[in-house]
Parts: sequence; structure tokens; C-alpha cells
Amino acid sequence: MKKVHNFNAGPCVLPEPAIKAAIAALEDFAGTGMSVIEVSHRSKEWEVVMDECRNLWKELLNIPDTHEVLFLGGGASLGFLYAVMNFFDRKAGYLETGVWAKKAFTEAKNYAESIGAQAIAVASSVDKTYSYIPKGYEIPTDLDYFHITTNNTIYGTEIRYDMDCPVPLIADMSSDIMSRPVDVSKYALIYGGAQKNVGPAGVTFAIVNKEMLGKVSHYIPTMLDYRTHIKGASMFNTPPVFPIFVMKETLKWLKEQGGVEAINKRNREKAALLYSEIDRNSVFVGTAAVEDRSIMNVCFVMAPGYENLQDDFLAFAKERGMVGIKGHRSVGGFRASIYNACPLESVQALVDTMREFETKVNQNA
Ligand SMILES: *Cc1c(COP(=O)(O)O)cnc(C)c1O
Repeated sequence: MKKVHNFNAGPCVLPEPAIKAAIAALEDFAGTGMSVIEVSHRSKEWEVVMDECRNLWKELLNIPDTHEVLFLGGGASLGFLYAVMNFFDRKAGYLETGVWAKKAFTEAKNYAESIGAQAIAVASSVDKTYSYIPKGYEIPTDLDYFHITTNNTIYGTEIRYDMDCPVPLIADMSSDIMSRPVDVSKYALIYGGAQKNVGPAGVTFAIVNKEMLGKVSHYIPTMLDYRTHIKGASMFNTPPVFPIFVMKETLKWLKEQGGVEAINKRNREKAALLYSEIDRNSVFVGTAAVEDRSIMNVCFVMAPGYENLQDDFLAFAKERGMVGIKGHRSVGGFRASIYNACPLESVQALVDTMREFETKVNQNA
């Protein structure tokens, strides 16, 4: 049993069986007499892990043969540049829905300007501190690609469906990958860091449509060319072996839970439980537009009149075992990240804590 309720935004809570398997493999990996961090990544025992991990991705997300799944280093932040290098030619469009979306956009914009080309924000929600997902915008048809961030980890908004897009669609799914079924065929590229929903920090995933590569006219550095990694089966250079091992175990756990459809149902239940408490409780208020609320990151603040109690609530929650509910440093307030591996009991414990706090505040009033 875990001793705390972990609501960290990433790195974050992982399934206990995955951690246990990681500990065992650190001691002795696959009967090799060596630790998983001591074996050659060219050994046949390691190949088995890579294959199993790849197959779990394919199976869980129903990835079509047109797409390849890759495991790479560099964080999701390098993924911003991977997208540009492999898909940008003359003009790209971005949906600016948060800090990460803006960073991805900036990477494209700076590169575009350096070659006399253009990257544009097709729509933005910066006017209301990224508290909603823009709607009713038109995607220009002359774009090389349109880039979205499906879940805005810091602001708690989410695009929970696979949009129709007249140009190749690219999505940063760092913080909601594997939280719901995805129609992979609609995307030219899906990428992200593992450390929010599928594993520890140190490895990223990229699900890329092979048929859409090789169409840009500029030079692509070897390590930033997805074709390099497709050819090398994610082992062109030494892969981040330990994070990949833990990711594989995390996905194994997900499969045992019934896969993405089953976990999505549970994620919705967890989110509904917490949002309904936020809406009911008189001392807290949600910050994201109701229709765009994320089922992964739940953001809220003290209700008007109670702002001075923020630190009191943090201390109150900490005493009850809540970890990581402080909002991102750029927005303040609170954020509970309730990823796949966050148990319902933790969400219930947070709800109980919020109720208790409300009672205490009202008694003192
Ligand atoms: C965390 C996060 C990133 C950055 O990930 P790194 O692996 O730290 O580079 C990018 N995009 C989104 C949506 C994120 O949540």
C-alpha cells in the first residue's frame, strides 16, 4: 500500500507492479545474472523487451501498419523540434492552448524565420490565460501540418477527441496518451514524454506515419530524422534502457486493467468525482472551461473571498498525505494530476480532504 496520495504532474505515480518489476530487474534481469542496467542493448534478452514494448503500444492503441512507434531520448521538448525537422517545409500552423503548445510553436516559428518561411498560430486561448480550447477556427489548407497539444497539463484543458484535419495532424500527447482510445490513422505524428502516463522520465514516444516522411526540402540532422530511428528500430544509438523497461511494465499493467477503453472509463469516473466536489464545495472553484475540462489534470483555486487560505489548505492536505497538489508555478492555485495509475482511493481521499476543509472554514467563520 502506498503511504501517500501522489498527485504529481510528472514524473508522477506509476503502477506498483511496474515498480516491483523494475526493482526485480535491477537485481537480476531475465535470468542473465546481471542487472537490467548492465546488459547490452544488443543482447537477445533486451531485444525481447523492445519487441514486447513495441507490441504493447501497437495493441493498446490499435496502431495501423502505416505507423511506426519509436522510443527516443530528449524529452517531449525535443519532440517539438523533431516535428519541425520532419514535417516543416514552408508553412506550419499551431493551436496555442498553453505553455507547452506555445513552446512547440516558438520552436517552429524560430526555425521558420531562420529560413524565411512561416509558422502561424491558427487560434489561441491566451486571452483568457489558456483556460479554454479555441473553437470555430478554420485550419488553412496550405499548411504543411497543424500542431495541437491534446492535454494542457498546466491549465487542465483537453481535446478529448480526434479531430478531422485538412492537413497532416501532429499532436503532443505527453499528458493524456493511453488515457483514451485514439484513432491513430488521423495523425501524421503523435509524440510525447513518457513521464506523465506511460513510464518514468528519460524516454519519449513517437507514433509516426512512415508514408508522410521524407517530404521536406531541407537537411535533417541524422539524430532528428525519424527515418534514422525507424531503420534502427529505436536503437540507432543506445536507447534509454531502464525507462523503456519500466514503460513496458507500465503498459503491461494497463493491458491487465483492460486496456485504454477500460482505463478511460475509470479516468472519467475519477475526474467526475473530483470536479463535482469542486463545483459543490463553497471554498474552491475550478479554473478550466467546463466543456474543456481535462480528465488528467484537474485545476482549481480558492473561491473568491477565500484566497488567503491557499497555504492553509496546502498544509491541511499535506497532513492528510496529499502530495503534489500545488498548481504550476506559472499559474498558482491547485492542480491534482490523476493519471492512469492514480487510484480512485487517492481521488476520494482528496475529495474528503476538501470537504473537511470546508467544514473547518465554516466553523471558524
Ligand atoms: C511535460 C510536457 C512537455 C515537456 O516534456 P519534457 O519531457 O520535460 O520535455 C511537453 N508537452 C506537454 C503537453 C507536457 O505535459
